[in-house]
Amino acid sequence: MNISLSPLFDFFLPRICPGCNKKLSSNEEPVCKECLDSILIADENLIQREYDRKFRSTRFISGFYSKYIFEADKTLQNVIHALKYNKQFRIGTFLGEILAEGIISKKWSIDIILPVPIHHLKKAERGYNQSDFIVKGMSKILDIPYSTKLLKRTKYSESQTKLHINERAENVANAFKVKNPNRVTGKNILIVDDVCTTGATLKACGKVLSDACANSVYACSVATTDF
Ligand SMILES: [Zn+2]
Repeated sequence: MNISLSPLFDFFLPRICPGCNKKLSSNEEPVCKECLDSILIADENLIQREYDRKFRSTRFISGFYSKYIFEADKTLQNVIHALKYNKQFRIGTFLGEILAEGIISKKWSIDIILPVPIHHLKKAERGYNQSDFIVKGMSKILDIPYSTKLLKRTKYSESQTKLHINERAENVANAFKVKNPNRVTGKNILIVDDVCTTGATLKACGKVLSDACANSVYACSVATTDF
């Protein structure tokens, strides 16, 4: 399906909650309230622990926030799957809006928001980067600009899910490039991923942004694993 047609199809197709497959009314959010309430929220202690474990040892990430805890085979996995593979873009902006509400309380000073990019071949294959829609929703709530072009993924990597933690880090190290370093120099940047697993991807993005003389780089994700 041509991607430009999808809003039209969205209009005619019944809206279904990706968590429970219940039909949604036209004024309902793209995830029903029951499903949304069933997703585990990451508390302050867990976020701090995950920051210490995933990011503290490097200088690249100044702070971390995640709204939810990722659980396999639960609601959030279905929700993110619908965004990632079924072109349900409104889920992305909706999750971005929720994530932004949590970011406000961090009182970080942010100049620009960047999604973790996907390789252009993967983008051609899938049609879009799901995180572009998340940052779009965040940008609206936070009133901070975003760019989907500033950071580029230069290495095509296969799915990370079957790799060991060390292999993951190796797999994404040097996978990113800053396209226009002048726009990064001296800036406070927030980098956004859908799910943070080992943190290797966000860290690799943080490294190239630091190399391009960003003032500080913060990282956030819709969900974080806690294993
Ligand atoms: Zn539901």
